[in-house]
Amino acid sequence: MAKNDTGVADQTTLAERATRRTLSHRRWRVWRMIAIFVIATATMITLSMANRDAQSVRTCQTNLRYALDVFRSEHKGKPLPWTLPMPHAERDLLRSHYRYAPQNANLLDTYSPVGICWCDQPHHLFLRPSGRHLLLFDGEEYEIRWMSEAEFRTNAARFGLNIQSKR
Ligand SMILES: [Zn+2]
Repeated sequence: MAKNDTGVADQTTLAERATRRTLSHRRWRVWRMIAIFVIATATMITLSMANRDAQSVRTCQTNLRYALDVFRSEHKGKPLPWTLPMPHAERDLLRSHYRYAPQNANLLDTYSPVGICWCDQPHHLFLRPSGRHLLLFDGEEYEIRWMSEAEFRTNAARFGLNIQSKR
């Protein structure tokens, strides 16, 4: 530490400078720690949101693909089932995510492809525009499409959809 009691002006100045430098370094270290903490936290939050977004969309697509596979394997050339096929025991819960309109297959004279099933509510995503899946049928083949909410609303009528929510 500085020896202010020596009475030597130079030594006092040097000691003061050293103290100021130490304080300045300490302050800088604190700010650096805060900055690292903020950046790390923001990164973790962003990654977790991205993961949540991806998982929500992926799960929905997987369930819809299951229905599509059942349509292809068990209903080829036959009417579609009255309830939406879903992959596991919590079928009712999974079904509640979708609007299923097998009767739309009767609209194939007017619309092609026609929308058979879609997410009843949009997936609200943090890092990209909200959107929905739509299962289309052209009389022969099925296709799952992801659409932004704006795209979905613009094109709903073109695919014969009545998009008034069931809730
Ligand atoms: Zn969905």
